[in-house]
Amino acid sequence: MKTSKTITRAFCVELQQEVSIVAARREFFSQEPPRARFSFLCSSEACRALGVKITGVRYDVKPQEHPTFVAAHFRANPNYEHHADCEWVDDAQSPDDQPDPAETEAQSALRKVKRKLDDYIDVFDPALKESAKAAPVPIKSDTPVSEPLTPSAVASDAPRTTKTTPTRTNNLERLVDSFRQAQAQLSKEEFALLTLRVPGQGEVSLRSYFRHIKFAQPGEERRVLYGGGLVERYGTGFKFKFFDRLQGKLVTLYVSPAQMQAYRSSRYISELLSHADEVRFFTVFALGTLALSPSGKSVSVHIEDLRHLAIVLGPAKEPTDPQTAAVAG
Ligand SMILES: [Zn+2]
Repeated sequence: MKTSKTITRAFCVELQQEVSIVAARREFFSQEPPRARFSFLCSSEACRALGVKITGVRYDVKPQEHPTFVAAHFRANPNYEHHADCEWVDDAQSPDDQPDPAETEAQSALRKVKRKLDDYIDVFDPALKESAKAAPVPIKSDTPVSEPLTPSAVASDAPRTTKTTPTRTNNLERLVDSFRQAQAQLSKEEFALLTLRVPGQGEVSLRSYFRHIKFAQPGEERRVLYGGGLVERYGTGFKFKFFDRLQGKLVTLYVSPAQMQAYRSSRYISELLSHADEVRFFTVFALGTLALSPSGKSVSVHIEDLRHLAIVLGPAKEPTDPQTAAVAG
C-alpha cells in the first residue's frame, strides 16, 4: 500500500535505530569525513521485514539560512509498497486531511496547516532524562523514550483509528527545524495557529515559545531564546555574541571546553562552527535563562545542557566578484 501520512521517523540501517531526520543529520555530520550516507527502512516492523525503503532528503546538508527554505525530511520511496499495518498508511486509504465530522472549524484549519510541514511537533519535553555523558551508548539524542508511539508498542490487532497520534520529542534541534520551516513557509495567520504542548508549561503558541533575544525578559519562564551573532573559539569551547543587545547590554552564551568534551554531539557543533569564515553569522537557539554578569555590563544565556542548544548557519558571505555583487544588488 502507499503511505498517506507525513513520514517523520524511519529506521536507520547503519545506526540500527529509529530516528527523526534531524537526529539522522546530526549523526551524519558526527562521522569523520568522508561521510557515508545512511539507508533507511520504514519504521513499521511489518514493512521493515519486507525491506521497505524510505528516502532521507537533505539530512546531508547542514542547517543553514536560505532564501528558499527546504527542510530535511523523509519521503516514501515510490518503488516500495507498504504493509497494510504500516503506521504511515491510513486505514481508509484517505489522506490525513480527510475531515473528521466532529472537528470544529478551528481544528480543521490547524490540521491543514500542520499538513504543510514535514515534521510538525505537538509536544516538546525539555526534561533531560539521561546523562549527557552517554558516550559509548548508541545515539540517545532522539530516544524512543521521547517518541514512544511506535506501532510495535501497540498490539497489531488493536483497532487502529484515523486519529493521528501526537508527535513528541525532546530534541530541541528538531523543534527548531519545525519552527524554521513554519516561519519560512506559512502565512502569518497560519503560523499563529500552531500550538505546542510543553510538560510543566501547558499549551503555548509555537510562536510564543520562541523569543528573539532582543525581546527576552530576565526572569521570565524558560523559552527558546534565539538570535544571530558571531562566535569566538576558546579551544574546543566557544563564546557566542549576539548582535542584538538587551536593554543596551551585550548578550553572550559561553560553552566551556569541558562542556564540549562531555557532550556526545560536540563534533557536530564543531563542524557547524568550522564554517565561521564562510558565513555572515550564526543563528543560535538556546533553551535557557538569562543572567546578568557580576559586573552588570553584560547578560549571559545559561543553558543546563548542550542538548538545549541548536545552531544554524547564516547565509554565505557575499561573493567578492564585483559582477556577481552588482547582480545581487
Ligand atoms: Zn511502512
